[in-house]
Order: sequence, then C-alpha cells, then structure tokens
Amino acid sequence: MSLREFLEEMEAEREVLKIEKKLSPKYQIPAVMKALDNGPILIFEKVKNFENKVVANVCATRKRLFKALKTSPEHVYEKLVGAWKNPRRPKIVKKGAVLEVSTEKVNLHRFPILTHFEKDAGPYITSAVIYAKSPDGSVENVSVHRLLLLDKNRLAIRLVPRHLYKLWDIARKSERDLEVAISIGVHPAVIIAATSPLPFGTNEFHVANTLLNGELELVKCPHVDAVAPAEAEIVLEGKISSVEMVSEGPLVDITGTYDIQRNQPVVEVVGIIHREDYIYQAILPSGNEHRLLMGFPREAKIWQSVSNVVPRVKAVNLTGGGCGWLHALISIEKQTDGDAKNALLAAFSAHPSLKHAVVVDTDINVYDLEEVEWALATRFQADEDLLIIPNARGSSLDPSADQETCLTTKMGMDATRPLNKPREKFEKAKIPLDEKTKKVLEILKKQP
Ligand code: MN
Repeated sequence: MSLREFLEEMEAEREVLKIEKKLSPKYQIPAVMKALDNGPILIFEKVKNFENKVVANVCATRKRLFKALKTSPEHVYEKLVGAWKNPRRPKIVKKGAVLEVSTEKVNLHRFPILTHFEKDAGPYITSAVIYAKSPDGSVENVSVHRLLLLDKNRLAIRLVPRHLYKLWDIARKSERDLEVAISIGVHPAVIIAATSPLPFGTNEFHVANTLLNGELELVKCPHVDAVAPAEAEIVLEGKISSVEMVSEGPLVDITGTYDIQRNQPVVEVVGIIHREDYIYQAILPSGNEHRLLMGFPREAKIWQSVSNVVPRVKAVNLTGGGCGWLHALISIEKQTDGDAKNALLAAFSAHPSLKHAVVVDTDINVYDLEEVEWALATRFQADEDLLIIPNARGSSLDPSADQETCLTTKMGMDATRPLNKPREKFEKAKIPLDEKTKKVLEILKKQP
C-alpha cells in the first residue's frame, strides 16, 4: 500500500488537481498550497530547476483522511484505537519500488525541498517518517520530524524529547551515531500511525500495517541498519550524529507562528534509495494537512478517554482555528448533569496540550462552529458551566503559555442542556418538510 496507490484512488474520485505551470519550490509552491488549503490534492507537474514532481495537501480534508484509513466518519476513531491495540508485524520483502535506484552518491540538492515561509531558516523536509531502533534491537520506533537542509549530504533534525530523542540519547551515551531511514512519500495511514500517541516500544509500522489491513511491506535499507516502506517514493539513509549539533529553526509550526531556534543534532545522509520517477511529498507547516495529521490521532485519544466516563461520544473536533491541537469540541450523550464536566477532565488528561474544550449534546454538529456557538448561547451559564484550571501543563507551541515552564490555564465549557430543565426549552426548531418542498429545494440549490 503506497502513496502512489492512494493518489490513483483519489484521482478516480476527482480529488486531484494537476498544476502545469512551472513553479519554484521557494515560496511559489507553498503559496499555492496555502491558497488551496481546503481543496484537492495538488500535483505540481513542473518544478523550476527540478526534474521530479511535487505532491501536496494529500490529506488536507477529513474526507480524504477517512478514505486513507479505509473507514467511515462513524467508525474512524474505533478503527484507529483498535489498530493501536493490535499492531501487526509487516512482511519484510526483498523487492520494492523504492529500491529501483540505490546510491551512495548523496546530493540532497536534487530534491525539490520547499522553502515555505518568509522567516523560515531554509528549505525544510516536512513529510519525513523516520525509523530507528535501539542498539540491542529491542525497541523500534517510527515518528515524524522536520529536517532542515544544511548542504548536499547533511540535514538538521528537530528532536522533541520523545521516542526518537530517547533512542538517539541511548546511542549517544555509548558514543554511537543513530542509524535512521527517512521515508518521504508514504501512504497517509503510515503517517497517522507515526503521529499516534503510542507508548515507547510500540513499532508504529506495525500499527500502520493493521490500519492497511496487513498490506504494508517493508524493505531493509542497503546503506544503514534500518527498514522502510517498500513502496515509499524516497528513503534517505542517515546517521544522527552523537556529537555534531547546529542551530535549527525557525520554522512555522502548527500554530502558524514561528518556532524558536534551538541547538539540534545533524543527520549525515550516507545513502539514498528511491523510485525512478519519484514524487516528492510536501506538507505545508500549519496547513490543514499538518493540523489533521498531527491532531487526528489526538482526537481519537480524546474520544477513547471520554468514552470511559460518559455513555457515548459522538464526535471530537480539534478545530482548525485551535491549530488542530489546542481547542476541542466534543459531542456526548450524557446520563447526569455532571457527565459533561467529567468529559472535560477526561479530555484534558487525554491530550495534555489541550487548552480550551467545549462539550455539547449530540444534536450539535461539532464541525459547524456556528452551531457550537449557538449551544454556548442557549445552553451555557458561566457561573455553573465553566471550568478553569490554572497552572496546568500546556503546549510549548502556544506563545501565550509560559514558554519556560509550559504552564497554562485550561478552560472547559459545558454547553450541554441541563437535564433538570424541560427538554423542549432547548430544542432546535424544525419546519416540517414534505416531498414536494424537498424537490423544490433541490432545484433551488442547483441554481446560482
Ligand atoms: Mn513511538
């Protein structure tokens, strides 16, 4: 299961727009990606100064995300959480499209790596799915990291203190570099698995394989001790240096603001494997796709956690305005009036970066912000329904939180209707619709 196959599927569903105009990877392509952020998948057929195509905005809509996970909106969280619980080891195969070209002559300047925003430090690879393992091989990990292009064979990698950082730290303590496979252009389900909040020790490729119904295949990399998807577009085979550090950043992060500069390790690329006619995949920092790929697994975690404390969770939306990370809208079925507050507490504990959350009833569509506002207007009283938690741990990405300590104030709003008041007081009024009117409406909607 590959990005290529997913693109073919999406093309058949008219979800792909091919752009013939020759555009530069510096600002021009990112500007088009941003302008068409909610739209189709973009394939840039001609890239100025480069031979290969660039694909962008692959999973920029929920609709395509559900297609990628091969499920419907109603069952998507169940499917993802189910895969977290049942990782299945993928097959290691000898042949794969990614092995069409294999070289030790590394020249990263051949790849159309985008420079996105005005004050970014330089060209950044933003779709990299990185595999590494512990020296004894007992722990394998796959995660997504941004990579700054330094020169023809070196990148700077941002290692947030999570799993890959831990593996690098273990290698560093025995004065060894960490070998990694950096895959660019993989099936979206692989990225979703890699961004999932799983415990250290879970191999995210195994979760991806479950999501892809056992159809993920891996190959061993020829130049480093690592594995990568057999059908990937490009795999950079690298070593994260145990000693060499450089200044990394700024780069726009999920909030749409610039992240700070930090000292980060250097990756030396020692070999490359790729498809003959590879497509380079780009993800726009802070774009819809970035927010969905990062936020969606957190929605599933919130869904899972809130499901433990209320009878039913209908939907969770980490909203675009909340950067796909800081704001959650959750619709629940409640049994008692206290349920919504417990739902808020469960949501905050499931996703520590969450800052503001609103809980609504299931008659409110959490993907329609105006409906949620309507619920706040007609079902919410601040003295009873507001929850404020000062000095909790928040997100380093939120510039209004304390940047040193990450302390923030969390706010939860219970906008569910109170059960002790008459139900009909809170009912959304409806106009009865007969068949004739429905037909008239259909015709009217088609008119400009
Ligand atoms: Mn991990």
